[in-house]
Amino acid sequence: MSEKMIFFVEDEKHIQELVKFNLEEKGYKVRVFEDGESLLKECKHALPSLFILDVMLPGIDGFEICRRIRQDNHLKKIPVIILTAKGEEFDKVLGLELGADDYITKPFSIREFVARVRAMYRRADSNENNEIEVIRAGNIKIDFLKREVFKDDKCLELSYKEFEILKLLILNKGKVLSRDTLLEKIWGFDYFGETRTVDVHIRYLRQKIEDNDNQPVYIETVRGIGYRFTDKEVDN
Ligand code: CA
Repeated sequence: MSEKMIFFVEDEKHIQELVKFNLEEKGYKVRVFEDGESLLKECKHALPSLFILDVMLPGIDGFEICRRIRQDNHLKKIPVIILTAKGEEFDKVLGLELGADDYITKPFSIREFVARVRAMYRRADSNENNEIEVIRAGNIKIDFLKREVFKDDKCLELSYKEFEILKLLILNKGKVLSRDTLLEKIWGFDYFGETRTVDVHIRYLRQKIEDNDNQPVYIETVRGIGYRFTDKEVDN
C-alpha cells in the first residue's frame, strides 16, 4: 500500500482537477478514476491508503463501490470518504451504513476537503503509534495492531470509524464520552458534522458487538450526554 496514495472516483472534470491539484500540493498522490468499474479493476494491482468516492457516477454508484470495498478482504480496512450532494440526508446515512468513514457534502470548500483528508490520515497515523496491543472485555477482544475485533473467537467486520469509536470508548472504560467529544476525537475538530452521525455509528457497532443491541451490555447510553463502555464485569 502506497503510503499517501488516494484513489478518487469522480466523473466531473473540474472537480477531478481541483481535488487532485490541491491534494498533490499537500504531498498526497491522487489517482483519478472516471467510474467505479475502472477503480475496482485497478485495485487488483495496486492499493490506495484512502478512497474518495463520488455518489453520482456513470455505471455503478458510489454506494455500490463502497459496498464492494467493504466486502473485499483486501480493501475492507481502507478508509472511505463519500461525496454526497447537498442536503441529501439520506445519502449521508446510507453512506455511513454501508461502511463509509466520512462524507463530504457538495458543493464543498477545497480547504475543508483537504482538512478532512488530513484528519483521516492523522487518525490513521496515530493508530500506528499505539503501544497497547490487545484489550479484552467480556467476550470481546480488540487487537489494536492488527485492527481486529473478536467476539468469542469470531472476527467481526468493523468499519474504520466503528473501530475507532470502540477503541476510544474501551480505552476510556467507565468514563462517559459526550457525542461532541466523540465527534471531535474520531472525526476531527474540523469536522462540520452532526452528533446524529455518532448515534448511527454506535447503533451499527452495537449490532456487531452486543448479544442484543436493544439491551446493550458493553456500550451504555448516558441520557442527554453520550456513551460509556461499561466498567462492570461482563459474563462470558
Ligand atoms: Ca458525479
